Amino acid sequence: MAALPDCIASLIAALSTLPGIGPRSAERIALHLVQADSGAVKHLAEAILDARERVRFCEVCGALTGTPICDTCADPRRDASLVCVIERPVDIILLEKSATFRGKYHALGGKISPLNGVEPEDLRIAELEKRLLKEPIREVVIALGTDVEGDATGFYLAKRLAREGLKITRIAHGLPAGTGLEFADELTLSRALEGRREML
Ligand SMILES: [Zn+2]
Repeated sequence: MAALPDCIASLIAALSTLPGIGPRSAERIALHLVQADSGAVKHLAEAILDARERVRFCEVCGALTGTPICDTCADPRRDASLVCVIERPVDIILLEKSATFRGKYHALGGKISPLNGVEPEDLRIAELEKRLLKEPIREVVIALGTDVEGDATGFYLAKRLAREGLKITRIAHGLPAGTGLEFADELTLSRALEGRREML
């Protein structure tokens, strides 16, 4: 690495902090960028900054969005009686790719984990309760990971949300054990959603 100028070495170091980019890929990308057309590099840098500055969380469901209310929440063709509860905003993107679910979403922002200091009030559960009062929701589908914390959070939610006229289901097993939704392929996710069962 002695032949690499400092500025390239620090670009490689910055790139290798990104998910999925190991040291070899970081070096390949860095060497490509420093030799690429400077207009194209500027465009890439601006696209990164622009996305970072414009993205925010949907005021209703917590999804990543460029507007105050996300496209899914604003879409009148989505089934407003059905809400799928997921852990992270990116889980919505995974479920949308499986193209099975036609309801709406609610991102909790994490899972209950006393060991890591995450208590129910740290999650967007109160927001979900408010939605149950305002929206015509008849079924809440719990689609958290299959690890211990995901299970515990699911049961906590099922008890706390239980009320007359509301069905609470969880997606079927069949997802890889002990993992989050990101490890399931689209077909597995869509089967898990279709095979959901009532919890209480
Ligand atoms: Zn939304």
